Amino acid sequence: MHELIKIGISSCLLGNNVRYDGGHKLDRYIRDTLGRYFDFVPVCPEVECGLPVPRESMRLVGEPEAPRLLTTRTGVDHTERMLAWAADRVRELEGEDLCGFIFKKDSPSSGMTRVKVYNSNGMAVRKGIGLFARTFMDRFPRLPVEDEGRLHDADLRNNFIERIFALRRWRTLLGTTRKIGALIDFHAHEKLLVMAHSPEHYRQMGRLVGTGRQLNPEILYETYERLFMQTLLRKCTPAKNINVLQHILGYFKTQLSPDEKQEMLEIFARYRNGDVPLIVPITIANHYVRKYEQAYLAGQTYLNPHPIDLQLRNQV
Ligand code: SF4
Repeated sequence: MHELIKIGISSCLLGNNVRYDGGHKLDRYIRDTLGRYFDFVPVCPEVECGLPVPRESMRLVGEPEAPRLLTTRTGVDHTERMLAWAADRVRELEGEDLCGFIFKKDSPSSGMTRVKVYNSNGMAVRKGIGLFARTFMDRFPRLPVEDEGRLHDADLRNNFIERIFALRRWRTLLGTTRKIGALIDFHAHEKLLVMAHSPEHYRQMGRLVGTGRQLNPEILYETYERLFMQTLLRKCTPAKNINVLQHILGYFKTQLSPDEKQEMLEIFARYRNGDVPLIVPITIANHYVRKYEQAYLAGQTYLNPHPIDLQLRNQV
């Protein structure tokens, strides 16, 4: 049994009948597949701030940076009610140890990006953020967030879930110590994952950890967390993954037979050309890590960043 990771989620995505029309927006992938690993904390801003089900639908109106939340037909302004509730709710959520949030796309309350904002002529631009989503993201800027629409994109999905598991590992460390030795050890395991996202951050974080003994531990841990989460937001490209895979190959210099090395290189080339997904070179790398008992590589989170049955690297 594994420990479930706590994730906030827009309540309607779990199938709860909280929408303005009394319905829901159940997402089976989230509930049934991600639910094997996540413990969801549902949040419905519109119901929790005191509005009924069913209710009049709402939309954002005015300036995209500071829109008002108005009912669509009668124009009742719920902005202050929503903002006051949201400020209280994010304070409550501080105690939940959330490692991420999945928002409902397009919602004037819950949408995290590209929500329609209407002007006085009834014309819309997709530049808004739902009022609760904005309050949440302002309060927890380092938490991984996505909406269910963007999770259909294999790269975004892989990146989002990877960040959630990474943050869980980081929080586990934070729960035990702030010693420099523990941070050095943590970083040693995350090195190749960091490199796959950003070689520049890999060097920067290496310098930070290398000079960490000269820093106040609180500042050191705080700086590391900021860099770590920023780094994982950077897109992993095939070129960056190939760089890391070549690096991994270097660890087997004296162990692989010429035929095994050739086979690995051929698989790397197939991945680079887009003929096979990332899981293929990763699987063969893991095979040789096990066969040749490569302890350093066996501890690299890059080779197993999230549970394999989620199949997140099968389409990237
Ligand atoms: S989108 Fe947000 S506010 Fe609307 S029903 Fe879903 S959880 Fe509630």
